Amino acid sequence: GALDPAARALVERRMNTLGTGYRLFYRNPVLAVRGLGTRLYDAEGREYLDAYNNVASVGHCNPAVVEAVTKQLNTLATHSRYLQDGIVEYSERLLQTFPESLNRVMYTNSGSESNDLALRVARHHTGGTGIVVTSEAYHGTTASCAEVSPSDGGGGLPDHIIAVHPPNSYRHEGESSVAEVFAARVTRAFETLCERGHEPAALLVDSIFSSDGVFPVDGALQAAFAAARAFGALVIADEVQPGFARVGSAFWGFARDHAVPDLVTLGKPMGNGVPVAGMVADSEILDAFGQDVPYFNTFGGSSVPVAAAAAVLNEIRERRLFENAENIGAIVRAGMEELAADFPQIGDIRSAGLYFGVELVADPETREPGTAFAADLINACRESGLLISVCGPTSSTLKIRPMLTYTAEDAELLVERLGDALNVAARVARAGVA
Ligand code: PMP
Repeated sequence: GALDPAARALVERRMNTLGTGYRLFYRNPVLAVRGLGTRLYDAEGREYLDAYNNVASVGHCNPAVVEAVTKQLNTLATHSRYLQDGIVEYSERLLQTFPESLNRVMYTNSGSESNDLALRVARHHTGGTGIVVTSEAYHGTTASCAEVSPSDGGGGLPDHIIAVHPPNSYRHEGESSVAEVFAARVTRAFETLCERGHEPAALLVDSIFSSDGVFPVDGALQAAFAAARAFGALVIADEVQPGFARVGSAFWGFARDHAVPDLVTLGKPMGNGVPVAGMVADSEILDAFGQDVPYFNTFGGSSVPVAAAAAVLNEIRERRLFENAENIGAIVRAGMEELAADFPQIGDIRSAGLYFGVELVADPETREPGTAFAADLINACRESGLLISVCGPTSSTLKIRPMLTYTAEDAELLVERLGDALNVAARVARAGVA
């Protein structure tokens, strides 16, 4: 559809003021003016069901978070060089969600900064520089994060970084399990780094392989972590996307697979829109780094972001949102499976809790990626009032991350609007063929 006039004028002003790197969602961008709970509203008052924003994961404008932030801003807003009880109390509660060995936390302002710090710690600890990542990984914007983000479009990887294919359960062949094949790739990559003369420093993986296409594969993290450790490398779990109860059965993506990393990076949903992020680590690893590098981060761990994070954690625990993620996730999944029976374009549905990767195919026999169909579909979803996006190497996997606060009615509406959009996209595809 054509852009509405208000949106068109703003798009133009935006192009004339923002740097060229910025991208908007959708052919017809949503002019978002308000968020409330699981909904976003545009300038014309149209309501959208938000199934993509895993920043506001306890709901847009969550009243408990707004109140905590407002109160803190009115009381004290200063940094971590002053003794404050908020940061200590929150850290104690946050660490309770981790296995015992992960017993220290450091605060930053973004997932990128957290990964940057984790890479520094891993390199300090091992004395190595070699990093293994997955082939479509995205880990952030800093120079060292861009280096380990093959999906960034910045060209080839440097010699000391190797990308391996993720544990792809949909396109797997052969006798070995998906987890074994993945671990063997990690082993081979570390061998190659050693042959090139680069000491192994870390395996860095998103615990649910978000950008690779969403692969919650049992045993994959466990096997890959063991493979990395055989080379003396540390394991960094990037929980920026799967973390904070999204996967339902566990608070963290790695815990879903009963695997324990050495360093964990946090971000996105941690402050429900307030920039707060961090890194959780084993004190045995962190101590030597901390003795050599005094760490101060002006906004990281300051009063207001910590108050937001504390309110988010309260919401998740008090409202038992991990259980909700599991229960509502099952409703959404069942609805998607019904849609898959009607639409052969749905090749695979992968999910954990409220994290979904729905792989679309142009041809169910050959499993040729349905890239064009996926693009038509997410735009049709937007028109039907449902906000989702895509991921994966061919941008043919729908990435759906509803808020943890979804009700059963929200879940049914998601499936209904996805069904409407599938009908529209299928009509477009048929017209294209005819
Ligand atoms: N890691 C992952 C897995 C991410 O998805 C992102 C952001 N998309 C980042 C790191 C970077 O986080 P931020 O944008 O907060 O710097």
